[in-house]
Amino acid sequence: MRLGMMMAGLLAVSACQTPATAIAQQAPTAPQLPSSMDFSDPTQNLSVTSVAPGLSYVLGRNVSSNTIVLETSGGVVIVDTSRPPASRAHFELLQKSGVSKAAYVILTHGHGDHIGGVALWKGTGAKVVAQENFSEFLGYQRMLSGFFANRNAAQFQFAGGGGAAAAPPPATMQAATAGLLNIVPDITFDDRLDLDVGDTKLEIYHTPGETPDHLTVWVPKLKAAFVGDNFYESFPNMYTLRGTRPRWPMDYINSLNKVLALEPEIVIPSHGPAITGKDEIKRQFTKMRDAIVYVHDAVLKGMNDGKDVHTLMAEIKLPPELDVGEGYGKIAWSVRGIYDGYAGWFNGDPAEMFAEGRSSISPELVKLAGGPKKIADGAMALIGQGKLVEALHLTSVGVEAAPTDKDVLRARVAAFEALIKASTNRNELGWLNQGLAEAKKALQ
Ligand SMILES: [Zn+2]
Repeated sequence: MRLGMMMAGLLAVSACQTPATAIAQQAPTAPQLPSSMDFSDPTQNLSVTSVAPGLSYVLGRNVSSNTIVLETSGGVVIVDTSRPPASRAHFELLQKSGVSKAAYVILTHGHGDHIGGVALWKGTGAKVVAQENFSEFLGYQRMLSGFFANRNAAQFQFAGGGGAAAAPPPATMQAATAGLLNIVPDITFDDRLDLDVGDTKLEIYHTPGETPDHLTVWVPKLKAAFVGDNFYESFPNMYTLRGTRPRWPMDYINSLNKVLALEPEIVIPSHGPAITGKDEIKRQFTKMRDAIVYVHDAVLKGMNDGKDVHTLMAEIKLPPELDVGEGYGKIAWSVRGIYDGYAGWFNGDPAEMFAEGRSSISPELVKLAGGPKKIADGAMALIGQGKLVEALHLTSVGVEAAPTDKDVLRARVAAFEALIKASTNRNELGWLNQGLAEAKKALQ
């Protein structure tokens, strides 16, 4: 997870001075996101936090994973290694702090924000441990590396904001991640691995959720669990907008139950700070599990009642006692992810069976409306009424019909700017910034 934002560049919307224009010209305020999901430089403001004797971590920032350090009489065990360039910054900070080499690197899963520092730690003699689905999962990412390079560049805006114009070109990003996707673990396991490292026993469990190769590390003597990305400071990203295979709710639920059954007194997730205290951990994990159960059950009920996916995206909200935040994952995306995960893409509208999508009738719609200017005016009026998503939809129809029309593009910029101002979700902001950058580019 992470964010980079460049909302400071204000674009003077020279169209009519409607209330919408006034909204768009206000300085956007930075949303309140946890530091693990913010847009800051992930190589800066790093420190080693001690949690218990022999257990510490470097908090990853801006969607770079934490690096967890467990010291034993048999050497250091590292859990997750962050993403480039943060992985090197974490590594160098730990070297300076006296952690010069590792006996093992355990990877909670094969996402790029966790595996960036593997080569660095391997260079110190570490053996790499992963669940046996790890290689297949890297293969899936490798197979779609061009697709994911584009999608990741848009969603994460890692170049520091400014959208597509400032993001690294996909080819560069692809090259940067290519090496990571060839990691071959030294040790793999199916359901459970017991690893004795000197005086410290580790139990490593397969806990699928965010990914099929996801694992949890349990250290009995510290009653500490390292749970990867199955728990963080938000409702889980059960569907990620950059594209993913289904992330099954029952996997998350079973994996959270597995952690709860261990009754941990320390939990270090791979994003966000450590959680301590048996009761507090139980409270937070139970709440997260119950939130997922609630959403899953509501989707099933809605599907069986014959409701369409957009109705359920709008209807399903967590009750206040289960509100776990939506700074990274969003309930609406998870609703759609669950719905489509179970039922696939067809929505029952016969028109959707055919290759001709909405864009095939956009020119006709714009003509019927009286031309692109009417569409632009309509979108600006909607923004003035606070109907920002509807305004964006209207400009999507407009640009499909008239991709270079200045009025439509200005309205589209205004819609994006107003949506950015209202957003408090890291991934949503990534895509809104991407859309804004593309619309501005088209205006030039
Ligand atoms: Zn992650």
